[in-house]
Amino acid sequence: MSDLILFWHRRDLRISDNTGLAAARRQSSKVVGVFCLDRNLLERDDIAPVRVTYMIGCLQALQQRYAKAGSQLLILQGNPMQAIPALAVALKAKAVFWNWDVEPYSQIRDRTVIDALKEKGIEFLTQNWDQILHSPEEIRTGSGQAYTVYTPFWKNWSSKPKAQPIETLQNTEGLTASEQEIANKAGAIPLPSAKDLGFIWDGGLIIPPGEAGAQARLEEFTAKAITEYQEQRNFPAMDGTSQLSAALKFGVIGIRSAWQATTEALENSRSDEAAAGIRTWQQELAWREFYQHAMYHFPELADGAYRDAFKNFPWETNEEHFQAWCEGKTGYPIVDAAMRQLNEIGWMHNRCRMIVASFLTKDLLINPQLGEKYFMQKLIDGDLSANNGGWQWSASSGMDPKPVRIFNPASQTQKFDAEGEYIRQWVPELRSLDTEYLVTGKISPLERHGLDYPEPIVEHKKQQQQFKQRYQQQKASTSAE
Ligand SMILES: Cc1cc2nc3c(=O)[nH]c(=O)nc-3n(C[C@H](O)[C@H](O)[C@H](O)COP(=O)(O)OP(=O)(O)OC[C@H]3O[C@@H](n4cnc5c(N)ncnc54)[C@H](O)[C@@H]3O)c2cc1C
Repeated sequence: MSDLILFWHRRDLRISDNTGLAAARRQSSKVVGVFCLDRNLLERDDIAPVRVTYMIGCLQALQQRYAKAGSQLLILQGNPMQAIPALAVALKAKAVFWNWDVEPYSQIRDRTVIDALKEKGIEFLTQNWDQILHSPEEIRTGSGQAYTVYTPFWKNWSSKPKAQPIETLQNTEGLTASEQEIANKAGAIPLPSAKDLGFIWDGGLIIPPGEAGAQARLEEFTAKAITEYQEQRNFPAMDGTSQLSAALKFGVIGIRSAWQATTEALENSRSDEAAAGIRTWQQELAWREFYQHAMYHFPELADGAYRDAFKNFPWETNEEHFQAWCEGKTGYPIVDAAMRQLNEIGWMHNRCRMIVASFLTKDLLINPQLGEKYFMQKLIDGDLSANNGGWQWSASSGMDPKPVRIFNPASQTQKFDAEGEYIRQWVPELRSLDTEYLVTGKISPLERHGLDYPEPIVEHKKQQQQFKQRYQQQKASTSAE
């Protein structure tokens, strides 16, 4: 048995502020990273090419970070439940460390790896909560229950002291040439491109891959934009949000570092408005954590509606409507602009995620699970907990106590894209129309003439009545059971 500790990276593609990695370095001077391109995940039908492209870029950057620290990041491909223990055995590693994850698949995978390591007499350390500021066990109601409502969660969560960023990996020994050969025989490969893996994405990335890019984005955002976040975050034509979601999803930035940046910004803030902006952004980080805790405590969320009234909801099956929604051809300008933004750049503004999710479920009466999956197929930041949380919230099928929330596309546009800037950016065929038409969505036959733009595929008023009616019926029948 050697002194080698393998550190298994998953959604923590960085060497700074990494709980498990720092713990590994404290126990050994020889720490080598490993990442497994997990066949069980990459072969799913909800993987976005943009997300894989970003992830591969981050792995490339991580390899360079390891090289600078004196070690390596090994790449495996296949089933990590076999590949990770096999590599550890071949290299006679003393231990394998990694950070724990909330997702149901991760927990099954990780327990299988633990069993295999135990059998081979290899140590492991996995109980590091790294991607969240507080563990799901730490944040509970007075009676010890998991929270199902955000506001009391936030109250409790925000009152707890937060950990400081953790030391960056440095001065580490790596594998010798002969050990590298052994690793290669045990499955280590050069890092493939996203294209090699079958994922083609030409749409650019909203954030440069790797720790340096994420750190620079965090610094830039917390230096100024964060102070205006409260006013600007709802306007999709503005650059008012951080666009750090993909970096947070893949752990390219440490959550403690992100939090510290907000506390420093608070210390430097000079007005109530600035402080309110920073506080509001902190609340978004808490939403992210709320949904991760929810997924940990209620893994059944991943399979469908939380509330009984939605478990057997009579959703419409209308492939034509669903396709129109996916392609941004519903005849509702704000919905179409948002869906085209998603399709073109692999990211969508939060306000618009809520608008299109409400439209799919409350106007088209289509099952939110279809929308949830389409988002996963397209988003650079696609994340089970946040995406599921967002869809359950929008569909009113989740934990949120407010039962029916219906967004009116026209009034949302009047409030948040009043000049039609966002619509003009993403729906070029409407660029020449008067703002009034864009905002109300009421395009006269004369204006419509010659435009390659569809009539609204449904009538909002009628559809929301239909939705409410079905909801009331479902509620009555489930409460009668
Ligand atoms: C239907 C729907 C689906 C969504 N799917 C995802 C998803 O797959 N992945 C994802 O990261 N976010 C998702 N969100 C949440 C939110 O829209 C994005 O996190 C946000 O738009 C990302 O942009 P940003 O980084 O500029 O956010 P900022 O406004 O700068 O917020 C900072 C960070 O806080 C977190 N955050 C913000 N809002 C939320 C929220 N409502 N729920 C959870 N975390 C939040 C994100 O990590 C985000 O990067 C979804 C929201 C809805 C309504």
